Amino acid sequence: MRIAKPVFLAVAVVLLAACGERAPEGATVIHAARLYTAPDRPPVDDAAVLVVDGRIAATGPSAEIAARGAATFAQCDGGTVVAGFQNSHVHFTETRFAGAASKPAEELTAALDDMLNRFGFTTVVDTGSDLENTMALRARVDAGEVAGPRILTAGLPLYPKDGIPIYLRDLPPDFLAKLPQPATVEEALASVEANLDGGADATKLFLMTPQGGGRYAFMQPDIALAVADETHRRGLPVLAHPTDIEGINLAIEAGVDVLVHTTIGEGKTIWEPALVDQLISQNMAVVPTLQLWPYELKRAKLEPRIVDHATGDAVEQLRVFAKAGGQVLFGTDVGYMSDYDPTEEYRLMARALSPMEILASLTTAPAARWKEEARRGRIDAGLDADLVVLEADPAADVANFAKVRCTIRGGRIIHEAPPHDG
Ligand SMILES: [Zn+2]
Repeated sequence: MRIAKPVFLAVAVVLLAACGERAPEGATVIHAARLYTAPDRPPVDDAAVLVVDGRIAATGPSAEIAARGAATFAQCDGGTVVAGFQNSHVHFTETRFAGAASKPAEELTAALDDMLNRFGFTTVVDTGSDLENTMALRARVDAGEVAGPRILTAGLPLYPKDGIPIYLRDLPPDFLAKLPQPATVEEALASVEANLDGGADATKLFLMTPQGGGRYAFMQPDIALAVADETHRRGLPVLAHPTDIEGINLAIEAGVDVLVHTTIGEGKTIWEPALVDQLISQNMAVVPTLQLWPYELKRAKLEPRIVDHATGDAVEQLRVFAKAGGQVLFGTDVGYMSDYDPTEEYRLMARALSPMEILASLTTAPAARWKEEARRGRIDAGLDADLVVLEADPAADVANFAKVRCTIRGGRIIHEAPPHDG
């Protein structure tokens, strides 16, 4: 059944095109001044996307699609249309998401809109939160009661023994008490099994965590390896917070799939070609979180010169990794970072990547990483109708990636920019 539906839709699309049949009841059309169906294809002007039953039924010239008589999302028409974005590093740990099982739906929708929907995110990866609460939030979004992105979650991350990082110590004590800091492989496996049995989609490891005063806690390599193996046995990815080159080396040893940050540790910050080759040969992806670094370093009251230097090093890590063919996944660490607007992330990424490489990091790359290319990442018939309508072309200015007119998930509008004055 899962395979049959897209095939059926594809056949229906061909028939529609061949017979010039009218679109079915409930179909909608979005007209685009410019349409990017994928980052590796040229854009098409004056095009439209036909949506039927939450999926993309067809794309083509605006006039041709309009002739099929579907209803329009008039408020979304006339922008630059791209596939729905994935933010591969978010957290649902702020108090506005607490008590998700019983919080009024409008409050949760407003919180999701503020952090994610209004910036075009139709899928997010929560890389660490209270699993039970995030599962409750996800259930309400999936039921259509709360408007928001599809949520993939790592649930509760694993920390080194006595290794809660210094920057997390302000979290609520009852949440801190839940964070696993296993001392043995057995304890670690028990935590990971409970997390994945509880619905988590990945395992997140803190391999090396700052403890203050220049001290670090390290996860034991045998623990990291055992939990990575168990996660892979279930066909799920392992995400890691590296902190520093030493943490990256631990990630390589454990067979981690995604590094959720670049590195700005106190030690070496250059990613040498040998290290980059190793990341790529192990098919590891990187979430750059570049905007996080100036945010953190400014909060630590470091001099602008040092902030610029550290940020520049992280940009360089991204550049060498991408140039060597590494898979880049867009992500900002919002939810931990209170600055929700990703404009600065796009500007920093643009120092290392082309606008279309950034689009790939938001769409096709995360779809591939999560083995969902048959479902999302491009604007093709049969795929989920996850779409972003931008006010203007991001190829002209990457800041336009953050200027979202409409976010559409599964054919439903989950964000609509307020109308312009005048
Ligand atoms: Zn994070």
